[in-house]
Amino acid sequence: MSSGRQRGMSVKIACPQCGAVVPEMDGPVHAYVPSAPGCWAAFGALRADEMLRFAGSEVNNLVVDAYMAQHPGDGTDRRDRQSVFVHLVSLCAVIERGAPPSRSPDVLRAVLAHATEFPLLRRARGPGDLTVLSATEATSVEDHDARVRTWAASVWDSWREHHPTIRAALDATG
Ligand SMILES: [Zn+2]
Repeated sequence: MSSGRQRGMSVKIACPQCGAVVPEMDGPVHAYVPSAPGCWAAFGALRADEMLRFAGSEVNNLVVDAYMAQHPGDGTDRRDRQSVFVHLVSLCAVIERGAPPSRSPDVLRAVLAHATEFPLLRRARGPGDLTVLSATEATSVEDHDARVRTWAASVWDSWREHHPTIRAALDATG
């Protein structure tokens, strides 16, 4: 009797970069961040929540670092390689070295000032178990901060074979 797809239910697809299961939709995506449009929309909604509901959050920059590091592209565009590299350095600073996420823009600037080459990094183990969707629907700023930190740590771990390269780049910024 049923065709299996009920009227009014949206079709879901997996984001090709992070695996988040999101509504299939047409929509804008970042020029060189190859997210599914529904994944990019979830990221946008989370950023909007940070401005409105969680304005006092300490992890605003960490959301960007985690998202960009989890959507590396295929590395054919130099901006892909640079984006994933610098955001991984920022994740390293926050997660391993305890830097406050508010310092992330300074870390990014320092990396860009010191590094001239951005090697192509490839994940050997996939994008990790958590996606941007794990950080949405927080009920308080504390809940939001905890969800974002857990997601960011998962993203950082998913790149573990490249941790020595990233740590060296962070150390080179002095
Ligand atoms: Zn995604």
